[in-house]
Amino acid sequence: MIPYGKQDISQADIDAVVSVLQSNYLTQGPMVPKFEKTVATHVGAKHALAVNSATSALHIACLALGLGEGDLLWTTPVTFVASANCGLYCGAKVDFVDIDPHTYNLCPKALAAKLERAQQKGTLPKVLVAVHLCGQPCDMEAIHELGRSYGFRIIEDAAHAIGGKYKGEFIGNGRYSDITVFSFHPVKIVTTAEGGMALTNDADLAARMDLLRSHGVTRDQSLMTHEPDGPWYYQQVDLGYNYRMTELQAALGVSQMERLDAFVARRHELAQRYDQLLANLPVITPLQNSDSYSGLHLYVIRLQLDKISKSHRQVFESLREQGIGVNLHYIPVHTQPYYQAMGFVADDFPEAMAYYREAFSLPMFQGLTNEQQVEVVRALETALA
Ligand SMILES: *Cc1c(COP(=O)(O)O)cnc(C)c1O
Repeated sequence: MIPYGKQDISQADIDAVVSVLQSNYLTQGPMVPKFEKTVATHVGAKHALAVNSATSALHIACLALGLGEGDLLWTTPVTFVASANCGLYCGAKVDFVDIDPHTYNLCPKALAAKLERAQQKGTLPKVLVAVHLCGQPCDMEAIHELGRSYGFRIIEDAAHAIGGKYKGEFIGNGRYSDITVFSFHPVKIVTTAEGGMALTNDADLAARMDLLRSHGVTRDQSLMTHEPDGPWYYQQVDLGYNYRMTELQAALGVSQMERLDAFVARRHELAQRYDQLLANLPVITPLQNSDSYSGLHLYVIRLQLDKISKSHRQVFESLREQGIGVNLHYIPVHTQPYYQAMGFVADDFPEAMAYYREAFSLPMFQGLTNEQQVEVVRALETALA
């Protein structure tokens, strides 16, 4: 089976992890700060907090922004459930904004219209999670403008987008948002096995997230309510979690980051080859915005169902039978039973549903060979015929 995504592990990665195993610190040592500095420097952010997953990063990002009961978080329905669940963790309610039919990202026009209605009803969101689907950046300038007009805060869920650029600058530099989150799950662009990171330029948000990832406990005297009882002293000043990343993970991350640019460049090569190889097939290849450089975590095609006699499901099943590990990113979150129970119905977001009926992801990862890619395209031709 050619999978849709796969990690790329080099001997240098293995050596980096082994040397941590032979060192004094398996957790809370020097590698996590080194990894944070590496990523922050690469993308141009002031502060970075490494955690055990992007899901954890989204959670502490929402908490740091003050999201709580009675508040609303908005995001796109076409994302992994974690982009929405983080709002529920905080006791907030979640709502969605339909996607743009061409970029598949949250549609800024739909957002503007929904905000206007929400203002009249007094149901404006406190936090918006903008997901850069497949690595293609959202229209952050428009979203940022709307954030200023309506007073909501912005989290970029950049789980797909590390190494990508928006208007010439790296995703994660925080020009258009409060906090950006990366994922280092093995299918993502850079991996630490499990892992995530929250980046911000705001020192207060960084300090809050730092507390929240480690029990709400501090050894920083300036944050304590009184003088330390002694040199052993620490204080719990908030209710936090154990969301820490290990030294093993951070060492792998530092080593992987050396190849980030090469990883994304190879993904672009593969995407251009797919664009050419698929040009005459009844599929819509992904639009690449000219103002951005996608991280290209995923390569999603949409079937032109009116031009073929097969169903979406038949094509998908045929590809799987032929050993191609296609996948569907994503089942619209509002159709999940857990969200349906909140009252959402499928047709609330028609563009997301139209996408869901036609889309799937072809294999896309840096280790995919040109020969494997040709095999994928041949299998797709067979599946469509
Ligand atoms: C993978 C992913 C997450 C969650 O990442 P984890 O590190 O697995 O917690 C969140 N949002 C999106 C869009 C993702 O693809």
